Amino acid sequence: VPVRRDVPEHMLADEVRLASLHALKCRFCKRCGGAMELAVPTNEDALRHVCIKCAYVDYHNPKMVVGMVVEHEGRVLLCKRALEPCAGLWTLPAGYMELGESCAEGAARETMEEANAAVEIASPYAHLDIPVIGQAYIFFRGRLAAPYTYSAGPESEDVRLFAPDDIPYDQLAFSSVLLTLKRWEADIRRGAYTLAHGVIRKKPGASYRDPDAFQYKESYEVTLMQDVIEKG
Ligand SMILES: [Zn+2]
Repeated sequence: VPVRRDVPEHMLADEVRLASLHALKCRFCKRCGGAMELAVPTNEDALRHVCIKCAYVDYHNPKMVVGMVVEHEGRVLLCKRALEPCAGLWTLPAGYMELGESCAEGAARETMEEANAAVEIASPYAHLDIPVIGQAYIFFRGRLAAPYTYSAGPESEDVRLFAPDDIPYDQLAFSSVLLTLKRWEADIRRGAYTLAHGVIRKKPGASYRDPDAFQYKESYEVTLMQDVIEKG
């Protein structure tokens, strides 16, 4: 089997990648049922899960989470999670992108599933990478669309609109949601929307239940001039 077992030092020093690979490992090859091991495939320079029998490489790549900042009459739509992780905490409607859909379609679908709410998408809003858990969050901004109704879907125990002053910052589910809502609140207060990208670095050992246990490094934030918020 064409793999290297003398794994270079720098690959073993990458603790984030090693932990991710460990968490994702399947014991058996999904092509031939042979045993999987961690090795460096020929012509590659990365540790991967490789079948010792047929050399099948089980590639693992980050996943895209797509979500919505839905506005209605100056307020934002939040869902109280009915399921773990983070049951009982508030989140923006969001979830894993499905095969065959665009990011925007996925964000609108998640909003319908979690909040029974139709949306009209206005713009991309925030792109937040979380390398330690292998996720990229893409949030869009949009408006509640006709018939302007919402209610709890099967994954939610409550769905409500929150004014900027009333956002439950101490009961939010995820760091990505916290950062996106803080940006939205700031945008509403100054009267112009932004578009931003940044990277969330979780503190070592931090629980996903602790949305403050991270550092955020922004790589850009631009203000959208064509879409100034009308102050009511
Ligand atoms: Zn195999």
